[in-house]
Amino acid sequence: MNSTPEERLARLPLREDLRGQHPYGAPQLDVPIMLNVNENTHGVPEDVQEAITEAVREAAAGLNRYPDREFTALRTALAEYLGHGLTPDQIWAANGSNEVLQQLLQAFGGPGRTALGFPPTYSMYPLLAAGTGTAYLRGERGEDYELTADSAARQVRELGANIVFLCSPNNPTGTALGLDVVEAVYEAGEASQAIVIVDEAYAEFAQLGTQSALSLLPERPRLVVSRTMSKAFALAGARLGYLAAAPEVIDALRLVRLPYHLSAITQATALAALQHRASLMSEVEEIKHQRDRIVKELVRLGLKPAASDSNFVFFTGLDDPQRVWRGLLEAGVLVRDVGIPGSLRVTAGTEEETSAFLGRLEELLAEPA
Ligand SMILES: *Cc1c(COP(=O)(O)O)cnc(C)c1O
Repeated sequence: MNSTPEERLARLPLREDLRGQHPYGAPQLDVPIMLNVNENTHGVPEDVQEAITEAVREAAAGLNRYPDREFTALRTALAEYLGHGLTPDQIWAANGSNEVLQQLLQAFGGPGRTALGFPPTYSMYPLLAAGTGTAYLRGERGEDYELTADSAARQVRELGANIVFLCSPNNPTGTALGLDVVEAVYEAGEASQAIVIVDEAYAEFAQLGTQSALSLLPERPRLVVSRTMSKAFALAGARLGYLAAAPEVIDALRLVRLPYHLSAITQATALAALQHRASLMSEVEEIKHQRDRIVKELVRLGLKPAASDSNFVFFTGLDDPQRVWRGLLEAGVLVRDVGIPGSLRVTAGTEEETSAFLGRLEELLAEPA
């Protein structure tokens, strides 16, 4: 039993295309201040907790029956929340937006097809592609990880991708894309009939004036905008992601989803949170305030934070990010090393958590390396 996971896997008839792959693995360490996976650090407000408890109690009485397979009440509430004239037949949901993305790959990717992403971007795209037998293509960004409309469109045209991932705001860099990029990529994808997925997991944290790709949905049947309740809605533990698209995209997803994939408990939880979103949205404002504070302080410390439309800040300018990562951890602050030279990523915490992070960071930068 002293063998490595790789050695143990080698004894199994694993699919060839999965050999050598590594699972998603952000460390889950038990530390006081967790600023590493962009969760909502402000917790579930008390009135939302109570509404969820009551809704789940009611749902419990009916758990002998399968849930509403079409989660109609939830789709109606999500359509109303998103606005933009969306109707319930344009909404789909699953257990986290990761499952939503997986279903999109199951329906529109697969063997012989390609999905294009623009690294550094969300680390799950290549893993979801691998799991569905879709070839993952790595596009290029410009200086400071910028992605322009011209460059993105040219790459989509040259590669003839079947699926394009545009992460906006991008994880790990935190910056939102202009809608001109989405429009240009959609047009460039005409030849290969590309499904263009705009992953707006952090949309609620965007700077004032940032536009959502939801406004581009009319007349664009290959465009998909995915969202999640894991971040702004403080429900990472409940697992609810969703998307908006043309009704025929939703019909395609019905072909690959598992029967009754959204449990009655999940549906009740998400619906209760949507109905009590006022207190959640005021937390979002406070998180944005801490995020802007981090950016300002990092500049003062001589570091280079990227513009952030999300609840996290990516920054470069570190001589030894591993030393800083360890030094923060020793003080009980867990941040994310995304493997980009000279950089780290930190989630905006509560005021106290953010102060602890900034204080410790300042000490570490003052220490001789
Ligand atoms: C956190 C995150 C998600 C959310 O995943 P869930 O499965 O909904 O928890 C999706 N996309 C990006 C880019 C993320 O950072």
